[in-house]
Amino acid sequence: MSKIPYKIYLEEKEIPKVWYNVRADMKNKPAPLLNPATLEPMKPEELCGVFCEELVKQEMDDNTAYFEIPEEIRDFYKMYRPSPLMRAYRLEEKLQTPAKIYYKFEGNNTSGSHKLNSAIAQAYYAKKQGLTGVTTETGAGQWGTALSMACSYFDLDCKVYMVKVSYEQKPFRREVMRTYGASVTPSPSEETQVGRKILAEHPGTTGSLGCAISEAVEKATTTPGYRYVLGSVLNQVLLHQSVIGLETKAALDKYDIKADIIIGCAGGGSNLGGLISPFMGDKLRGEADYRIIAVEPASCPSFTRGKFAYDFCDTGMVCPLAKMYTLGSDFIPAPNHAGGLRYHGMSSILSQLYHDGLMEAVSYKQTEVFEAAEIFARVEGILPAPESSHAIRAAMDEALKCCETGEEKTIVFGLTGTGYFDMVAYEKFHNGQMSDYVPTDEEIQSYLDKLPKTE
Ligand SMILES: *Cc1c(COP(=O)(O)O)cnc(C)c1O
Repeated sequence: MSKIPYKIYLEEKEIPKVWYNVRADMKNKPAPLLNPATLEPMKPEELCGVFCEELVKQEMDDNTAYFEIPEEIRDFYKMYRPSPLMRAYRLEEKLQTPAKIYYKFEGNNTSGSHKLNSAIAQAYYAKKQGLTGVTTETGAGQWGTALSMACSYFDLDCKVYMVKVSYEQKPFRREVMRTYGASVTPSPSEETQVGRKILAEHPGTTGSLGCAISEAVEKATTTPGYRYVLGSVLNQVLLHQSVIGLETKAALDKYDIKADIIIGCAGGGSNLGGLISPFMGDKLRGEADYRIIAVEPASCPSFTRGKFAYDFCDTGMVCPLAKMYTLGSDFIPAPNHAGGLRYHGMSSILSQLYHDGLMEAVSYKQTEVFEAAEIFARVEGILPAPESSHAIRAAMDEALKCCETGEEKTIVFGLTGTGYFDMVAYEKFHNGQMSDYVPTDEEIQSYLDKLPKTE
C-alpha cells in the first residue's frame, strides 16, 4: 500500500454540499429548550425574537438528516477549506507508538479556529432575512473574531460583548475584530440593564461568558433589525460544524483508513460535535463502532463532574434553559488559559449521547495540557491553541497506551486552532507560574444545589 501522505487534502469540489444532522439518527433526541418564564418548551415564534428564522428551523429539526449548504456559504468555505487532515508521523515517532495518529487542522484561517464554519452560516442567514446586525459575546475572542470576519463578508453590523478580563488582557484579539468592523464592548457594561445589574451586585467583576451572553441577548432583543448569535452549544452550531467531520471522513475514506478512536476538546461541544457527527451516525445506525472521547479542563469539568439537568445557558437567566451536563449557570471557573473551554454547560446533543453511553469524557489539568502542547509544537510545527491541546494530550495518552499493548490503533483528533494569541499562557507555563486549580466536590455541589427545579 502506498504511504499515507503527511497531509491529506481534499479537492475544492469535495467540500461537502450538505451538513449532517446527527439528531436524525439519535433514538433519544436531545431535550427541547425551555422558556425561562413558563418552563414550557420554547415555541419557534418565541425563539425567532432572539435568533434568525432559518436558524430556529435548524435548531428545532430533530429529523432532517441533511441540510444543503447554500452556495454563498460554500463559496466562503472555499477560502480556507477543505482543511487538511494531517498524519502526525513525527509525533508517532516521538512517542515510539505503534498507533497511527491523525489530526484535522481547523486553524488555517485568520480567526484561527473552527468557529468560522458556523459564523459564516449564521451571518448568511441573518443577511438573507434582511437584518441589519447581530450581537454576540466572546470570551477569549475566537468566536468574536470569526463572527466579525463573517459579518464583514456579508456587510452586517456586528456588536460583540467581550468578557472584561479578556478585553483587557487580549487587546490584539479586540483589534482584529475592529479591523473587520465589529464594535467591541467590555462586559459587564453600563449599556444594558442586565450589565448594570451585575455591576451593581458585583462591583469590580472581570466578567464571565454567562454575563456577556445576557448582555448580548438583551441588546439584540431591544434593537430593531438585530438578532443574537451564539458560537457553540446550540444544535444549529453543531450542524454547521459537521463540515469538519464530513471532510475528515471523506479524507479517511480516500485512503481506506478506519478510525478506532476519535478525540476532541469540549467547551460548549461544537467542534467535537461537528467532528464526530458522521462517525456517531455510523455508530447509531450500527454500521461501525468507534471510541469517542471528549476532553475538558479539570477546572471546568462539565461532563466528568457536572449533572445532567435543565439549566440556564447564561448567568442573567434571560436565555432558555437547556438540558445538558452542567456545573450550574453561576459557576465561574478558576482562571484557565483555555478560555474557549470555560463554559459551565455542554451541547444538549452531546450531553444526551454521553448520557446514553455512546461517548466517553476525560479531564486534564492545564500544566498537563501545556506539556503536550509544547511537545506537539516541537515535532509537528504547529503552535496549538490551549483548547486544542486538550485533545492533543488525550490523543498522546491513547497512543502511549498502544505502546504497552502493541495495538496499532488509528487515532483521529481535532486540532481546532492556533495559539498565537495565547502566548501569555505559554509564558506562564515556561516560567513555572501556571496553577492547576481543581474545584472541590463541595464547591461543585454548592453550584449544583442551585440548579433550577424543572421536574
Ligand atoms: C472555542 C474553541 C474551542 C471550544 O469550543 P467548542 O464549541 O467546544 O468547540 C476549542 N478550540 C478552539 C481553538 C476554540 O476557539
